[in-house]
Amino acid sequence: MSSVRATIEVRGIVQGVGYRPFIHRQVRRAGLCGWVKNTGRGVEITLEGTREALASFAQMLRSEYPPLAMVESVEITRWDEAEGVDGFAIIQSTAQPQRRTLISPDIATCPDCLRELTDKNDRRYGYPFLNCTNCGPRFTIIRDVPYDRPNTTMDDFAMCPVCRREYHDIEDRRYHAQPTCCGDCGPQLSYCDARGRQVQGDALALAVETLQKGGIVAVKGLGGFHLSCRSDDEQAVQRLRLRKHREEKPLAIMCRDLAAAKKFCAVGRDEAAVLTSPRRPITLLKKRGDMAHLTDNGYLGVMLPYTPLHHLLLKPLEALVMTSANLSDLPIIKDNEEAVTALQGVADGFLLHNRPIESRCDDSLLWVYEGREYFARRSRGYVPYPVSVDVGGAAVLACGAEQKASFCLSRGSDVFPGPHIGDLKNAETLAHYEQQIRHFEKLFDVQPALLVCDRHPDYLSGRYAYDRCRREGIPLVAVQHHHAHMVSCMADNRLTGKCLGIIWDGTGLGDDGTLWGGEFLAGDEKSVERAGSIRPIPLLGGERAIREIGRIGYVLAREAGVIAEEDPVWERMLLRGMNCPVSTGMGRLFDGVCALLGLRREASYEGQGAVLLEAAAAEDEGCYPAVIDGGVFDWRETVRAVVRERDAGVETGVIAARFMNTLVETAVEMSCRICREKGLQNVVLSGGVFQNQYLLARLPGRLREVGLTPYVHRRVSCNDEGLSLGQLVIAKKGGGVRVLGSTAEDRGIERP
Ligand code: ZN
Ligand code: ZN
Ligand code: FE
Repeated sequence: MSSVRATIEVRGIVQGVGYRPFIHRQVRRAGLCGWVKNTGRGVEITLEGTREALASFAQMLRSEYPPLAMVESVEITRWDEAEGVDGFAIIQSTAQPQRRTLISPDIATCPDCLRELTDKNDRRYGYPFLNCTNCGPRFTIIRDVPYDRPNTTMDDFAMCPVCRREYHDIEDRRYHAQPTCCGDCGPQLSYCDARGRQVQGDALALAVETLQKGGIVAVKGLGGFHLSCRSDDEQAVQRLRLRKHREEKPLAIMCRDLAAAKKFCAVGRDEAAVLTSPRRPITLLKKRGDMAHLTDNGYLGVMLPYTPLHHLLLKPLEALVMTSANLSDLPIIKDNEEAVTALQGVADGFLLHNRPIESRCDDSLLWVYEGREYFARRSRGYVPYPVSVDVGGAAVLACGAEQKASFCLSRGSDVFPGPHIGDLKNAETLAHYEQQIRHFEKLFDVQPALLVCDRHPDYLSGRYAYDRCRREGIPLVAVQHHHAHMVSCMADNRLTGKCLGIIWDGTGLGDDGTLWGGEFLAGDEKSVERAGSIRPIPLLGGERAIREIGRIGYVLAREAGVIAEEDPVWERMLLRGMNCPVSTGMGRLFDGVCALLGLRREASYEGQGAVLLEAAAAEDEGCYPAVIDGGVFDWRETVRAVVRERDAGVETGVIAARFMNTLVETAVEMSCRICREKGLQNVVLSGGVFQNQYLLARLPGRLREVGLTPYVHRRVSCNDEGLSLGQLVIAKKGGGVRVLGSTAEDRGIERP
């Protein structure tokens, strides 16, 4: 058979991920000849062989690639006559006109490395920092680009001759693996006692001993420190909660392996695939049994070991609590000295190592929904992979919201969402936020030509944006909070044009200056109109009502006319409208009903009301009456039914289910009306309330039943963390309001 030549272009994340050595091996296996080179857009492979062999090679490239690569497209761009080349070569890349560096996230220990870790005859046996081209630290150790060892925190470690030989051998798995090392040349563990004094001996064994005895050990990981203790030791967990001032918020565990995870939780095939993926997120799984010391709801956060150190630590222990080591909402601790100082009195021991962490990166947190990842927090393992959108143009920096701060930086049609930041209310968190923005701009070689922020005048992210734009002379656009949520979900699904957004969250500033959060928005990326909402809820005492949710329960009952006993102080406040801003936040309605059912009168974390109602829900298909009046869901009739059934002794779980069923049916009815009226078909669901898996399991299906097409988030979170993606796309499409840098400076927008 005669030979031909094919030029194959592969696009996606194919540089710095061991792609060319992979191609080298595959080409040899297939018995083809030619060369490969990096280009400005990806990788170009030129091969000679039979037409059939070349076509099947290209086909194979679509489904097979090294673990860190992400193949977006494989295309045979041209066919030529064969010139009879011999062998195979990796050609040095020519200067690239348009630099498109992509940086890999940190990837869990690969099966090959794991085998070496446990092989007594391997020279890396038991070495807690082994890695290769297919796995190991990336984003968290990179100081600058290009991604070469001197630009990482591995710069401190000179390779030994054996490691260097592997590094330069194209046949070796460690060919060009920047962080490669071994016990002779790489980082080392050390152990300190509760007072931070170094203890001589086997650091790992000392840590295990402390853990086994019920102690709390601060463990330095990939993107920061964890506080860990045995998850089966309730007293140890209680001590950890007390010392960390985290009385109720759920704690995640790390299980030795999948078998251990299955002991604690229901793990289906899809969940197992996500748990064991090289990204290793914390996956929220339906728990088996009570485990009240770990979680206050039906889910338990579980992850599997993702560094060699974790594998070694969990060998003698089946499961450990692994919670980010930080104090009262400060950023996760990343440096040894900082850990030893800040965690005095918290940790009974410190398992440290001497490889510096450049960038903090918290564990990602997600559910598995319809077979895919559904994020609560997109961070380690995913950051800094880009999310591609259908709009290019100048670089934009979107600054996010505040409590779940985030940012997105764009370069062409690639959008880079930043790592988990936390609540910006702390100076330290704000500094971390600003530092990560600078870091991203450096790594991706982008200077934003435009900044976007929320319209809330007090968000610190908005202040940052305003000050920076003033200083650097960059234009600034402000975007309404729920519009940003909506467009985030649209962009997440690559949806453009007009659609309906059901945007349910806790709080966001509305166009009319009141707090919104139970919204039905009709429109597109440029503008939306508020096509529906819920009856406003007075927040008795403002911010305080968000914590003391008993106040919201009181207000709901009062408005519904089913108040048991009047509170004279609260009545006076309500009558005078004193410190009682109104909110249409769906999260608040959840809080109020949670309180009315006696589940809770005070929330110890934001959104707890909704979490507890979901956890309480029994299997019940019942529904309460709901009144929709002029596009507004009047919940008073629903609240009356809730209180009536409660007083009649109906089980709490049944009422919780019926209440949420009512929300689903109300949403369906309102969506139908609005979509019919406005000729809309697509419905996007966004806002923090859609972390509620009960709603998520029902509402999309019901919308489909009535002929609408629902969309939920896929690549970024539905909560405020994912909102910066929407801000960015709105600004790119010319939506939002100019605050700075144009003639329209005085359009009534307050200075953020
Ligand atoms: Zn590996
Ligand atoms: Zn070495
Ligand atoms: Fe929000």
